[in-house]
Amino acid sequence: ASEEAAAKANAHMAETDAPTIFDKIISKEIKANIIYEDDEALAFRDISPQAPVHFLVIPKNRSGLTRLSKATEAHKPLLGHLMWVAQHVAMKENLGDGFRVTVNDGPNGSQSVYHLHLHVMGGRQMGWPPG
Ligand code: IMP
Repeated sequence: ASEEAAAKANAHMAETDAPTIFDKIISKEIKANIIYEDDEALAFRDISPQAPVHFLVIPKNRSGLTRLSKATEAHKPLLGHLMWVAQHVAMKENLGDGFRVTVNDGPNGSQSVYHLHLHVMGGRQMGWPPG
């Protein structure tokens, strides 16, 4: 429970429009294990995996999407593309038996990095409900 409280405190502190660590991953300034890339999106393995397969799908241009709740009508094609990339890479990662896609939004969602990202997790039986 104290871990949960710490995560929540972290999430509250992190809410900002400032550049994030994901910008440095996009610019290749810092290393990530990139498993998919196209003009609009990047997928790379989460540094702290919560499942045997755990990767993130992000837009290369955050374009105001610090968090999902900032989405406007104009973001709809990009949001669709990110979902497409999630399943495309999941299939390449042999997650045909199923997987989970998660978006943490804001403090109550325990979001810690304010650059929209989809978590894709699989390779084990996922529990429900999540914490
Ligand atoms: P959030 O809590 O939904 O914002 O998730 C942020 C995720 O980014 C967490 O699962 C972190 O483990 C992950 N993460 C943070 N920094 C890095 C990094 O440098 N490389 C890969 N994943 C990262």
